[in-house]
Amino acid sequence: MMGDVAEILVPSAEIQEKVREMGERITRDYAGERLLLVGVLRGAVVVMGDLMRNIDLPCEIDFMDISSYGSGTSSSGVVRILKDLEEDISGRHVLVVEDIIDTGLTLSYLLRSLRARKPASLEICALLSKPSRRRVELDVKYLGFEVPDEFVVGYGLDYAGAYRNLPDICVLKEEIFAGS
Ligand code: 5GP
Ligand code: MG
Ligand code: MG
Repeated sequence: MMGDVAEILVPSAEIQEKVREMGERITRDYAGERLLLVGVLRGAVVVMGDLMRNIDLPCEIDFMDISSYGSGTSSSGVVRILKDLEEDISGRHVLVVEDIIDTGLTLSYLLRSLRARKPASLEICALLSKPSRRRVELDVKYLGFEVPDEFVVGYGLDYAGAYRNLPDICVLKEEIFAGS
């Protein structure tokens, strides 16, 4: 699999260090509260697994699965909920965990839906952000890394369903995209 990789943008050790820092900040910020982490399937699964083990608080997890109506690698911002939360989030302290924020359209749609359910608080934790691509303002309370406008894979992020299990955040070789 590493043979398909052109460049490692964020190596595994740096990700681990950053996730540990984010977990420590979350632990301080939510002291005394019971936290609900909401992961967005499927990309956030890996960061969720590492992040939750760095949060020293009573916390629960839940997941949503969404599908963007946009085609290919660009997002339309019109989102269909494929799997909704199991939990009722009204009155809960909710922290949404995302793999990457690109235009921000998907997450802003999702936040609108979650906000309408009256959580006690609603914040965002995103491993990656592409600020140059942002089309809507989002207040990301916990951010791992800013990355340039390149399509990245690994640590949960896929290309055509593959590469999620790479431990590093990587850019693929051009030839991998050539046939698609
Ligand atoms: P947005 O609505 O912010 O434009 O898109 C967010 C979603 O698009 C992310 O949650 C992710 O699923 C996908 N996405 C955006 N940029 C990338 C990228 O560089 N690599 C991968 N694998 N997915 C991306
Ligand atoms: Mg995502
Ligand atoms: Mg994807």
